[in-house]
Amino acid sequence: MNEPKINIGVGEIHRGKIECTELEDGTPVILPYFVMRGVRRRPILLLNAALHGDELNGIEVITRLFEKLNPMKLHGTLLAVPVVNTLAFRARSRVDPVDGKNLNRLFPGKKEGTVTERIAYHFFHKFVKKADFGIDLHTGMKGHLLVPHPRIRVLPDFSPSLEHARALNRNHLLS
Ligand SMILES: [Zn+2]
Repeated sequence: MNEPKINIGVGEIHRGKIECTELEDGTPVILPYFVMRGVRRRPILLLNAALHGDELNGIEVITRLFEKLNPMKLHGTLLAVPVVNTLAFRARSRVDPVDGKNLNRLFPGKKEGTVTERIAYHFFHKFVKKADFGIDLHTGMKGHLLVPHPRIRVLPDFSPSLEHARALNRNHLLS
């Protein structure tokens, strides 16, 4: 079964990976993930980073959270994908070096598409769709300075996004 193991026991931490596809030489293209289960199963918060392979800070944020958080103080499940585009990450490139595509523009992806479209498909269907909330961590590109700010899409029937974004930064907010 090539599905993330999200439903784990109370207080448990699980680290795993799922395979999206393989390269021409048989090298698997994977999505690594971490799960931390609190005292309740829901809500499920998805945290992900390195959707652009040269944006590294979010990887460290996720790594530190999993080192420091006590699952018994969590009321839900923390699901994290520290590196979404592993090919671009290895190349320290914004786009995927194999097909030259920007993963951030390809959702919901294609099951039988190019390598980046397949990563988008698996990430969207196996992680994003299973979460109640999500935070997609980005940083400025190499050599660029980016003022920290949340970007949100406010849906007419769903206001918590705005509340969460304001909790992160009240001065700079893109919607
Ligand atoms: Zn980015």
